[in-house]
Amino acid sequence: MSEPVPIPRGPAETVALARFLAATRAEGPGERTAIWVQGCAIRCPGCFNPHLWGFRGGEQVAPHELARLVLDAGTDGLTLLGGEPFDQAAALARVAAEVGAAGRSVMTFTGYTRSQLDAAVDAGRTDVAALLAATDLLVAGPFQADRIDIRRPWVGSTNQEFVVLSDRFPDLLDELPANPDRVEITVDPAGRVAVNGWADPDALDELLAGLRASHR
Ligand code: SF4
Repeated sequence: MSEPVPIPRGPAETVALARFLAATRAEGPGERTAIWVQGCAIRCPGCFNPHLWGFRGGEQVAPHELARLVLDAGTDGLTLLGGEPFDQAAALARVAAEVGAAGRSVMTFTGYTRSQLDAAVDAGRTDVAALLAATDLLVAGPFQADRIDIRRPWVGSTNQEFVVLSDRFPDLLDELPANPDRVEITVDPAGRVAVNGWADPDALDELLAGLRASHR
């Protein structure tokens, strides 16, 4: 078994933002604002976002400014995706705490396991503890390409674990089977295609190939 990846310590003053999506119904319960961050130390084989692995790049945004953008979007809450949110836990904890204090929920995806995060907290990582404390719903564990999950929504592989950390989602675990996976595809006026959400990878490939063909 390979050694767990040490969790990098990101700065508290800025978030390296890769993508901001004001409203989506494909990244967690209800309508949510989604933030993809730049940088991931985990590097799961088969990851769908390898362009988000590098720690250089992304737009540097102050946590308060990002929280205001989320709250202005007026959705049910915030979903943090990556890249790896816990690789910049200090700054994202500030965003998540501000969003939570305004009554919105926070869902955080991580490639670290729950036990890795707990071990980091036990070892004194206050940044990890702060992001966990500001998260209502955690989806934990690395993506495993040989264990694709076609039953539960939002997650990529069957090893990934839903962890409810607050009382904001009291019935979520029971309601998972009723939530289908969704994919959202946006084509902007310049013809750029953006995809978010999750579906069976073969079905998604077929869909995108058809979209590219019809666009040509
Ligand atoms: S943790 Fe997420 S972003 Fe990082 S390599 Fe794994 S699937 Fe990709």
